[in-house]
Amino acid sequence: MRAAVHTGVDEPMRIEELADPGPRSGEITLDITSCGACHSDLHVLRGELPFPTPSVLGHEAAGVVSEIGPGVDDLQVGDRVVTSFIMPCGNCPQCTRGNEEICTRFFGYNRAKGQLYDGDTRLFRPGGDPVWMYSMGGLAERAVTPATSVYRVPEGVELADVASVGCSTMTAYGALRHAADVRVGDTVAVVAAGGVGSALVQLAATFGAAQIIAVDISDEKLTAAKQLGATHGVNSAQVDAPEAIRELTGGRGVDVAFEALGSVPTFGIARDSVVDGGQVVVVGIAPKGTAGELDLATIARRKLQVKGSYGAKPRRDMPVLLDLVARGQLRPQDAVSRHYPFEQVQEAYDALGRGEVRGRAIVDIA
Ligand SMILES: [Zn+2]
Ligand SMILES: [Zn+2]
Repeated sequence: MRAAVHTGVDEPMRIEELADPGPRSGEITLDITSCGACHSDLHVLRGELPFPTPSVLGHEAAGVVSEIGPGVDDLQVGDRVVTSFIMPCGNCPQCTRGNEEICTRFFGYNRAKGQLYDGDTRLFRPGGDPVWMYSMGGLAERAVTPATSVYRVPEGVELADVASVGCSTMTAYGALRHAADVRVGDTVAVVAAGGVGSALVQLAATFGAAQIIAVDISDEKLTAAKQLGATHGVNSAQVDAPEAIRELTGGRGVDVAFEALGSVPTFGIARDSVVDGGQVVVVGIAPKGTAGELDLATIARRKLQVKGSYGAKPRRDMPVLLDLVARGQLRPQDAVSRHYPFEQVQEAYDALGRGEVRGRAIVDIA
């Protein structure tokens, strides 16, 4: 099969021929049709998140099940499916406590070493050398992934439209539902209107937020955010964003501010934009070692609630999201602005790195 292989920091990915992967116990093989181009992959390509090479990135894969491993009884060959980037092991102490998003084995094996949970990869060069996997390694014609990360796509829904549900949409849902517990009538700010930011805007509207204030340095992204449900757009390159947010909320500040990029300035805006007692939810993944500033007296006196949110609980949340998509109440396709053929996979990430991609770019693999 062909796969886009990441060979080193700042080197362009190369399409290589790898051995066809096969599933082991509890896993399936997927013939991939589409994979979203996500900022986390870009962090790895730039060396901002350490990850072994050679490796296959891509963790927003959708496709058709082509092979079933032993012990998988709820999926069939031919099922049209989408994957979640978190592949919960299902029985580590965190999964057992219901915290699938911080599955010990996912981080210990996959994110640290590019392996699945038997300590091995499923990808090999023709000569037998291992190629590591970032999640399932979705930038390839085939991928092997634990069945715990695979969800049937409802009839009538295009696979390319839901490829990023298992990352940006799920991450937005986790932040809204599990971290902040946003309720009808809450006011929210979404700081940075990229992939996850777009999904936060869309889902905040679904959750019934009264005001959804998108903040970005690109007017084009703010316009797009309004089309997805933002009630206001604030260009933080032109105005003092926390001040503008206070003006828009009658001087109070928002109930919840989501930081959706992973940078010091966006964190500062989120921190300074909430009402006393409000929640600052950090969703963006900053390069390792990035430190934001918090005034301890302010946190205590204003009772600020600063929280982290990572992904969501795939087995509980993915069926909910796909059901919303099936009912037309969530339209992830509205956030898809570009498609790239597989041969131009590197260009998709170059455009993402230049800040040109509104919402999501999808790599069409088959
Ligand atoms: Zn992603
Ligand atoms: Zn686990």
